[in-house]
Amino acid sequence: MTVTHSSEVTDAQRAEGKRAYELDRQHVFHSWAAQEPFNPMTVVKTQDSFMWDETGKRYIDFSSQMVNTNIGHQHPKVVAAIQEQAATIATIAPAHVSAPRSEAARLIAGRAPQGMDYVFFTNGGADANEHAIRMARLHTGKTKVLSAYRSYHGGTHLAVNVTGDPRRFASDTASTGTVHFLPCYPYRSYFHAETEEQEVARALENLENTIVLEGPSTIAALILESVPGTAGIYVPPPGYLAGVRELTKKYGIVFIADEVMSGFGRTGEWFAVDHWDVTPDLITFAKGVNSGYVPLGGVVINEAIYDTFRNRVYPGGLTYSGHPLATAAAVATINAMEDEGMNANATRLGNEVIGPGLQRLQEAHPSVGDVRGLGCFWAIELVTNRETKEPLAPYGSSSEAMGKVIAKCKELGLIVFANFNRIHVVPPLNTDDEVVTEGLAILDEALSVADQYY
Ligand code: PLP
Repeated sequence: MTVTHSSEVTDAQRAEGKRAYELDRQHVFHSWAAQEPFNPMTVVKTQDSFMWDETGKRYIDFSSQMVNTNIGHQHPKVVAAIQEQAATIATIAPAHVSAPRSEAARLIAGRAPQGMDYVFFTNGGADANEHAIRMARLHTGKTKVLSAYRSYHGGTHLAVNVTGDPRRFASDTASTGTVHFLPCYPYRSYFHAETEEQEVARALENLENTIVLEGPSTIAALILESVPGTAGIYVPPPGYLAGVRELTKKYGIVFIADEVMSGFGRTGEWFAVDHWDVTPDLITFAKGVNSGYVPLGGVVINEAIYDTFRNRVYPGGLTYSGHPLATAAAVATINAMEDEGMNANATRLGNEVIGPGLQRLQEAHPSVGDVRGLGCFWAIELVTNRETKEPLAPYGSSSEAMGKVIAKCKELGLIVFANFNRIHVVPPLNTDDEVVTEGLAILDEALSVADQYY
């Protein structure tokens, strides 16, 4: 595998990158990291599905950063829209009408399921979930929130507590009214299911038992990623989301679909719920809405919940709600995605390139225990034994073996989104087929490292 050192990275960019690294280590406090051993990568340039470090080395971005650059890096239409907006109204209080916010709300509501016509803007995904839960609590007059184990909903207080992966352990979980339920996860079924149909039926039965035992009169909301992302891109089998919708209706619970990662084309549809024709009460979004060029998130709201606040103050807001630069970027992003057929391209890439490519890797490498995904949203689970499904890193943790696989990818010029024993293949939706194929070839080589632990 040849590693590309681009002459496009200038000496000035290299020097600036080196200085930035020194300053970072002196002054920046990093997320989800032990500060001292953390050794962040310096990025001096990005373009399309590529990024370059301070040595001029080029990497394929199979991570879309935090699974947000759905339209790739430095899309010219979005960059221009931000520049134009900055030159006219760079900022404005949320109480004022502003053209980019109105247009972004129209475009987003127009892509949500029917009857979801209102948009509340936030700065990102966690605060979108916090606001959705607050709306549900005020709407129902109830307090508890149900959420799945093996989920991720964000890093703020309530959002990290509804999160179902072990990252919540370090924060207070007792005061938030969160109750977790077992997810529908066929590969490692908690219900000893042998088929997807069994898994769906048993997961729904278990969820209904949880609702009944917790007391439906105490439960305001159920929050669920339509396709759980950070937790492993395990696509719900047919019938699961529809079953959740039915149960939430039956027991008067607000159904919040967290589409922060799965929304805006990632799965090939504007929202992942579209794959199963499910209409939740609230949808939270962020990331892909403007490809992360400027921080933005929000909640799409149905008529019933809007009604609660028609003549009653919604007690919540943010200084930057609907920020002009962020919403102008959203308008440009959504229009560019539409004009350039990116959702259809994500579907095609998933069906024709990524999916079959990963299946081939599973045939070639015993360490690939499971391959799953859709659109440009795929994960492989690495194991040391396919029978026992022993993971290459324990759940909730990293391992030397996983570290070596990820390091090998990086050495060969591929950046991946990895979590515990999984590698996620989540490139921008408009990545060239040849680039995806090149990335998969690097992954192929790196997986030989994982096989050594098998
Ligand atoms: N919800 C989901 C499904 C996510 O994947 C994430 C982030 O990865 C969040 C919420 C939190 O979003 P943010 O980091 O923008 O607060």
